[in-house]
Amino acid sequence: MQAAENTDQNQEENPIDMKDIVSLCKRRGFIFPASDIYGGINGFWDYGPLGTELKNNLRDYWWKSMVTTPPVGPDGHPVQIVGLDSAIIQNPEVWVASGHVGGFSDPMVDCKETQKRYRADHLIALKPKEESSPWIAIIEDDEEFLEKRLKKTAKGKSITDFDQVNLTDVDLADYGKILAPDAKEVGTLTEPKEFNLLFETGVGASEQDKTTAYLRGETAQGIFINYKNVLDSSRVKMPFGIAQVGKAFRNEVNPRNYIFRSREFEQMEMEWFCHPDEAPKWFEFWKEERQKFWQKIGLNSDNILMRDHAADELVFYSKGTCDIEYKYPFTAPDFGELEGIANRGDYDLTQHQEHSKTKLEYLDPERNNEKYLPHVIEPAAGLTRGVLALICEAYTPDPNRPSGVYLNFDPKMAPKKAAILPLMAKGEHPVIAEKLYMALREEFAVDLDIKQNIGKRYARQDEIGTPYCFTIDDETISDGTVTARERNTMAQERIPLDKVSEYLREKLK
Ligand code: ATP
Repeated sequence: MQAAENTDQNQEENPIDMKDIVSLCKRRGFIFPASDIYGGINGFWDYGPLGTELKNNLRDYWWKSMVTTPPVGPDGHPVQIVGLDSAIIQNPEVWVASGHVGGFSDPMVDCKETQKRYRADHLIALKPKEESSPWIAIIEDDEEFLEKRLKKTAKGKSITDFDQVNLTDVDLADYGKILAPDAKEVGTLTEPKEFNLLFETGVGASEQDKTTAYLRGETAQGIFINYKNVLDSSRVKMPFGIAQVGKAFRNEVNPRNYIFRSREFEQMEMEWFCHPDEAPKWFEFWKEERQKFWQKIGLNSDNILMRDHAADELVFYSKGTCDIEYKYPFTAPDFGELEGIANRGDYDLTQHQEHSKTKLEYLDPERNNEKYLPHVIEPAAGLTRGVLALICEAYTPDPNRPSGVYLNFDPKMAPKKAAILPLMAKGEHPVIAEKLYMALREEFAVDLDIKQNIGKRYARQDEIGTPYCFTIDDETISDGTVTARERNTMAQERIPLDKVSEYLREKLK
């Protein structure tokens, strides 16, 4: 994760505390720690009833924007993208070819005192401006940890008394002066060593037959290895894309920042295959399209940063990479990666062609049967990181309402589009309410909520980000109208009961 500079006055004055977001997500059923009743398991999360709906809405909207109604290309015609759902476990050679076995590793340091392990590129060494005191290693982007650590180890000092150096840039000779993040003694960090992030599993019934396989570290490789199958079985021609959404697994050393860095997460990846000469054009095209996508589903453009990688930051095969970063509360005023868009050249197809010994060249009928390995542009987004960005963006403290907060979801993303609330739980109100619910539910995701006083029910709907509530009361019986309440303004108006679906359709347009 890379940080870039930018400041936002508002966010600095009224920082949103991640603890409040995590607590709302658990209280209202968006996200739970995995294995909660067993004390959890670090780096894994379960999505509750509303979190699942939100994640599905984001997934479906991405699928629609890629596969069902892909964007219009520079020639004025919609581009071609087809979908795929490949297996999580593949032949282990796939991961050798892709470079994940052997290469998919991060430099790690261990602490000899606490036995804790850290990713070296995630540690910052605070080098005191005054030579005599020790250097203090902290975990990047963890303000709370920094404050506690300074209080404990350098009383009276502030961050300005130190120079900040990435641990990967610290001379090994200086490791002896560093106090590790949780250590009491100085000089307990080992030299960085490589650690593979792929999860291993065994395939086969008996111990003797078992072969080692890997849970996929990304969805992209499933696309590359099916590129030929798709070409041979469908009517796509260059340029075209293959899109896939699904789980990916990485044995992250320091899972942190809530669901941002998990060990099991979901990705939405598309590989765009094109003629080598056209790759730069398509790289620019996809950068723009992907930026528009996140804005369309409600991320404020001030909170999005398009960050082109500098030449020395690119992996050796990449001809260009741009990260779409979001200003998460735990990175603010800096940004954290949400999606990476990379011009990968022909690296992946070359690797798979060599390792599988299968020809993957394309014979282009529109270019005089020119034979070439296509180049690839890859917009690779995190579905679960997207869910986190949507929740952070929507979280709006508001002391003027009973819940004190509401989720300002774009209606397209909101888990529930409307709630139907009979004022009384008995008598005519719930009967009319259920009838209305039955009339709406085929078209909209609606919630029928009967119990508790109306204030508490509005509070719940505000906290789960439902844009509209319709209340059935005695007036409904006498004049056939209901109260329509708008989430953001809390404004209420009476509308005819038989016009509710029209009203909702109009509002959600
Ligand atoms: P990072 O630098 O944050 O580790 P990356 O550059 O390794 O991410 P990619 O391999 O490009 O990530 O994966 C594409 C997308 O998958 C990322 O932009 C991110 O949204 C998501 N992603 C990657 N690792 C994780 C993770 N551990 N937890 C949640 N999402 C992740």
